[in-house]
Amino acid sequence: MSNFKRTTVTSALPYANGPVHIGHLAGVYVPADIYVRYLRLKGEEVLFIGGSDEHGVPITIKAKKEGVTPQDIVDRYHGIIKKSFEDFGISFDIYSRTTSKTHKELASEIFKTIEGKGGFIEKTNEQYYDETAQQFLADRYITGKCPHCGNENAYGDQCEACGTSLNPTDLINPKSAISGSAPVMRETKHWYLPLDQHEAWLRQWILEDHKEWKPNVYGQCKSWLDMGLQPRAVSRDLDWGIPVPVAGAEGKVLYVWFDAPIGYISATRELTPDWEKYWKDPETRMIHFIGKDNIVFHCIIFPAMLKAEGSYILPDNVPANEFLNLENEKISTSRNWAVWLHEYLEDFPGKQDSLRYALCATAPETKDNDFTWKDFQARNNNELVAILGNFINRTLVLTSNYYKGAVPTPGVMTDYDSETVKSIMSCRENVESNLEAFRFRQALAEAMNLARLGNKYLADTEPWKVVKTDPERVKTIMYVSLQITANLAILLEPFLPFSMDKLRGWLGITGLNWDAAGRSDLLVPGHVVSSGELMFTKVEDAEIGKQIQKLLDTKKANENAVAPALPQKDDVSFEEFTRMDIRTATILEAEKVAKTTKLIKLKVDTGIDVRTIVSGIAEHFSAEELPGKSISVIVNLAPRSIKGIESKGMVLLAEDENGKLVFVTPEKKIKNGSPVK
Ligand SMILES: [Zn+2]
Repeated sequence: MSNFKRTTVTSALPYANGPVHIGHLAGVYVPADIYVRYLRLKGEEVLFIGGSDEHGVPITIKAKKEGVTPQDIVDRYHGIIKKSFEDFGISFDIYSRTTSKTHKELASEIFKTIEGKGGFIEKTNEQYYDETAQQFLADRYITGKCPHCGNENAYGDQCEACGTSLNPTDLINPKSAISGSAPVMRETKHWYLPLDQHEAWLRQWILEDHKEWKPNVYGQCKSWLDMGLQPRAVSRDLDWGIPVPVAGAEGKVLYVWFDAPIGYISATRELTPDWEKYWKDPETRMIHFIGKDNIVFHCIIFPAMLKAEGSYILPDNVPANEFLNLENEKISTSRNWAVWLHEYLEDFPGKQDSLRYALCATAPETKDNDFTWKDFQARNNNELVAILGNFINRTLVLTSNYYKGAVPTPGVMTDYDSETVKSIMSCRENVESNLEAFRFRQALAEAMNLARLGNKYLADTEPWKVVKTDPERVKTIMYVSLQITANLAILLEPFLPFSMDKLRGWLGITGLNWDAAGRSDLLVPGHVVSSGELMFTKVEDAEIGKQIQKLLDTKKANENAVAPALPQKDDVSFEEFTRMDIRTATILEAEKVAKTTKLIKLKVDTGIDVRTIVSGIAEHFSAEELPGKSISVIVNLAPRSIKGIESKGMVLLAEDENGKLVFVTPEKKIKNGSPVK
């Protein structure tokens, strides 16, 4: 990589239809951030680009479902996603979005340039059309059975069960995701990127010139190329997206996978007027960090687009990761099977580095991997607290106790001291070679080995015992331990930026860069360090239990959502039914019953009278939100005394799949006391 003057690092644009979870962090953003921080520490010129992907069908579907505009959806999630990244220290130079004006302009320019060079083919063919909704069914607007694996819920662009990229016509028994009806075929014109014409140079560029790419990336590209590339449509009949910027394209927008990767470039253009050198100078090294589902887009389609445009460089590497599972199941936004970053921080405030550490240590670099809460706890308690935190703490506390924090002057080094000092440099080299090869798990393990070495050194040399007999010897021991500590602050900074920033502050070495790592004179005699507080704290069993319970609750809710309804009860006669008097009513006042957890005392206008009803709903509603609500009440249920309060009647409620109660309410406001029959 010495041939390159600078590095542009992009990380996959998260899709703005939900918050980000640990799978995103482990697969893309933690490794990208580690890499960028490492290059910055080395003093290299690097730019780190991110942003939200805000076009495409899932966003319009979600908007329709919620009765809001697509812009509302992307505004909401862009904000949440951006904040999560900031909170976890993902150090983007810019985090932008694909609904920006700059992006619209640049995506249009690139399309027009390719169009002008004859880089597209225009084809009119038949596509699925929903006659009920009066609209063409692109991508996720159409679902059906996957022809490869038989998954019944495959989308028109991809089967999520087997990962295969699909065309809508590949689906067996297709149906519209809007109306559920069977679609018809109708003619429409689209622009295609003729990938088949790019196949020859792609084969050479990937299969011959980039044999160093990770085996999972290289292998996926090879299987795509071996299957033979087909022209791929880059426009869609949709009303959400960037309009196709040529005449005769009314009602058509750019395919989301055409515009999204251009988002990297437009974000760079928003950041600096000098943006072209990061995208067009052959002396710039381009790296795309992505998950495995994006390999084809970043290794084949985006490079083909850039080649067709003609003035851009191609990526030098695409270190894609596999997927992270959660407690042995696939992470799923729709099934809420995830650890959401914003929720993690509510439950574990200040423990960003603990999650970054656990995710890097279990990163799915070569195969899918599993995150479990037990493993998270073990890594925090047994590694961060017991190894790293313990070594730093012992070193700083002893230095404070023996020398009031001043670094002692070392005496003659023993062979063991010299060996230990030498290991610091070999540790740096191991971390470095793994980082350069995108092996972040191994790089982290090598850096932690230095903390292990430090602990062993202290255990072997026992300064707390020797100080009584040979205080001069202890000066050397503490000097060596302090140098190890200073090296840890540098080597671990890319991985644990919050904690190492703190440590640098305690040590007073804020300015040291990567080149200083490996040296054994980072802290000179007389320099004063402070001992600070504990760097890491334990995660208790109760906290882990709470997280596991949360997942069990989710699982239960998912099961309930698909579970059949309860079987019907025994028949009642019509006469028996008519004896029950159900009326519409309105809650006037509500008050929690003291010394109970479940009961709320309601004052209800039944139309017949105003009466008191005690209801077991306090775990589902607050007393403040109840007044004014329309409800249904069994008014002739015999009065009962509950906690000394006479309750006359019963409020009707239904239970949802999460076990949460909802009122049975007339569908519009009607007069209190109207009989329900
Ligand atoms: Zn499939």
